[in-house]
Amino acid sequence: MRALQRAARSELLATGRSSTLDELREQLPLGLVEMLRIPGLGAAKVRRIHEVLAIESLAELEAAAADGRLAALPRFGTKTAESVRRGIASLRQASGLRLFHHALDEIEAVRRALAGLEGVQRVELAGAVRRRCEVIEQLTLVAVHAGGGAREALVRRLGRAPGVTEIGGREGSVTLRFDSGSVVDVLLTTPERFGIDWIRGTGSAAHVAALEARARAAGASLNGSYLDEAGVYRALGLAWIPPELREGDDELEAAARGELPHLVEHTDLRGVLHCHSNYSDGTVTIAEWAQACRAAGYEWMGVTDHSQSAAYSGGLRSEDVARQHAEIDAANARGAGVRVLKGVEADILADGALDYGPAVLDRFDFVIGSIHSRFGMSEVEMTRRVLAAMDDPHLAILGHPTGRLLLQREPYAIDLEQVFAKAAARGIAVEVNADPHRLDLDWRMVRRARQMGVTLSIGADAHSTGGLTHVAVGLGIARKGWLEPHRVLNTRDADGFLAFASRRRARAA
Ligand SMILES: [Zn+2]
Ligand SMILES: [Zn+2]
Repeated sequence: MRALQRAARSELLATGRSSTLDELREQLPLGLVEMLRIPGLGAAKVRRIHEVLAIESLAELEAAAADGRLAALPRFGTKTAESVRRGIASLRQASGLRLFHHALDEIEAVRRALAGLEGVQRVELAGAVRRRCEVIEQLTLVAVHAGGGAREALVRRLGRAPGVTEIGGREGSVTLRFDSGSVVDVLLTTPERFGIDWIRGTGSAAHVAALEARARAAGASLNGSYLDEAGVYRALGLAWIPPELREGDDELEAAARGELPHLVEHTDLRGVLHCHSNYSDGTVTIAEWAQACRAAGYEWMGVTDHSQSAAYSGGLRSEDVARQHAEIDAANARGAGVRVLKGVEADILADGALDYGPAVLDRFDFVIGSIHSRFGMSEVEMTRRVLAAMDDPHLAILGHPTGRLLLQREPYAIDLEQVFAKAAARGIAVEVNADPHRLDLDWRMVRRARQMGVTLSIGADAHSTGGLTHVAVGLGIARKGWLEPHRVLNTRDADGFLAFASRRRARAA
């Protein structure tokens, strides 16, 4: 153990990373790793919370601290529950940046509270959350009042709203501090100014500046009466631009040419990919997965447990494969209402080989290949490793292609241009991993992959049925990367997906 620590330490000093730490991070659902940052919650307590209450996110933990479930756990009590609640609040205050899903939970709670206040005609999400950015620094809402004296009355009411501990004001907006730790800017506007103020509140700064420049060039004014956003864009000769695209790249030019993409929507998604079951590190049985996916309205789903090398997560040994497949066949025979496909998330080993030999891989309907170890390779080595994996005709999808963990771990070094070129040429999909801690590919790279003709898949990477909510987060990234439905593998029906996944295998055979 001592020698292992020494080796880990010298690696950390030499390369700035630690494979021990990287591999430890692969062992736990990422929401549990976050819980360890709460003062007083050690690994033993986090494990008990996870096992007894089936909690794996900060939002779920906060709810359990508030409704008494946490206090009721043996050796927890009300004092621990209260300190957890305060710990989450101080995490919020301390960290300028938070992940999208945490920011969305925070701002939705505030939005609902403000929507119930007298004098608030309408309140909408704005800022980077509305643009679906992956990490969020500032929370912004836009609230509509009747104008005139209604503004002052509303400001007074906001100061007395439940949970508000402090109210500060700037020109046009107020900043509210809550006892939950949240700090939210609320832009106050009137119905006549709503269209332009919602655009300003949503940003980005670069997008708004580009709009203003366009208005100046046309001799138009943005200070007129605009009841909605579309009116503003129309006045500038533009189609309405979805908020996800408002990053000040070239979206105005595309809107002016009528060439904005028809972005993929949730109703376009027919299948869920990348679900872990209790055959590896998930907590859900095959039957429960089928039921949850049907309830969520999907036609098919792909179970993808970890492969045998993934000792960290109890990967599927080849002798378990038959047992799992029999269980899937039984679920399908019962007519679960959703078709369950047999997938696997196979480790890409250090030399680029996929975990399991061809005989075992042949038994799966499709294979996602992912890197879960040896993150510290040089760019040349890592690129060679992934390109080699893409030579295996079983590989249908390249999973979380850069290994980044937002706010925790940098992406590994890899030349994505080469990866995308090969993916497009071979007909391999590249994943938009929808775990909110990953969101990997990054949306900027999604757009590049789209330009290069790559097919993308939205991977839930869910370890519990609650993880189905990841899909909406990943969808936001797909949209932010300008993806239309036909670019997204999940929009195909089950047979269409299977045809994509097995085409290269058939050719190789
Ligand atoms: Zn993975
Ligand atoms: Zn996974």
